[in-house]
Amino acid sequence: MTSRIPPYSESFLEETRRRLIELRTRLTDDDLAEAALRPVDQGVSLEHPAEYGSDAHEQELNLGLLEEESVRIQQIDEAMARVDGRGHRPFGLCEECEDEPKRLCRSCPWIAEERLRAVPWARNCTAVQERLDGGEEEGTRLEE
Ligand SMILES: [Zn+2]
Repeated sequence: MTSRIPPYSESFLEETRRRLIELRTRLTDDDLAEAALRPVDQGVSLEHPAEYGSDAHEQELNLGLLEEESVRIQQIDEAMARVDGRGHRPFGLCEECEDEPKRLCRSCPWIAEERLRAVPWARNCTAVQERLDGGEEEGTRLEE
């Protein structure tokens, strides 16, 4: 049994909550709707673009199409519920590593703070997400 005590500080959770609210406001604000249409290289919410190098992050941040907006809003709402302890699962717990930690990152089974800063609605750790995005489709990847 792995530890179920989240490693995140109150201030990190508070910061994450603020970020989620800000992102949601941006997505639902008509004047700023076009922000969701910007290509990824101009950023969606990026305060520290240099940190967002991986393909996984780029894909997650590439909102691209408006029809993805509602999906994103839902993801944000779910993440917000998790941050507030109202979710079905704890905030930041990697879905892949929950039952069987893959030990691919230091904080396993918890998603690293850097990743949650970049993608606060993330449900998998970076390493797992890269594998899901990257390649070996065949076989035993998680399907919810
Ligand atoms: Zn993981």
